[in-house]
Amino acid sequence: MTNNNHSCPAILFVCLDWRLHPEIENYFKEEYDNYDLCVSAGSLKDLIAENTKDYFLSQIECSRKLHNSQTVILTMHQDCGAYGGTANFEDAEDEFRHYQKVMDEAEKIVLQKFPKANVVKYFIGLEFKENKWVSDPKKIND
Ligand SMILES: [Zn+2]
Repeated sequence: MTNNNHSCPAILFVCLDWRLHPEIENYFKEEYDNYDLCVSAGSLKDLIAENTKDYFLSQIECSRKLHNSQTVILTMHQDCGAYGGTANFEDAEDEFRHYQKVMDEAEKIVLQKFPKANVVKYFIGLEFKENKWVSDPKKIND
């Protein structure tokens, strides 16, 4: 049977850090079935930066137009090199709070441009366990 339907429910913003991939993609595939993928250093770092914001908003616009995606999945991860890594923070709580602020700011920017979008946020824990990097995504509720 041919399936010409190429719509998808979501677009995922995620850091390019190799330690997250492809596990994180598989995780979101379970959660959202299919999604468009927007990968960049620091994930939302350049979506909230004034001079690069429009480019990232245009990626959401493309996804909505081409694939009718309704959900925008915003993620940030532990030990992100684009923010100086875990060493740059006082403790785990301080690090989490920082990324929570980044995600809140990104959510505001996305909703300003796309008021009808369904925005969801995840903080991805990242730990080296038994010789490999393991990601542990957790949904953040407002
Ligand atoms: Zn990163």
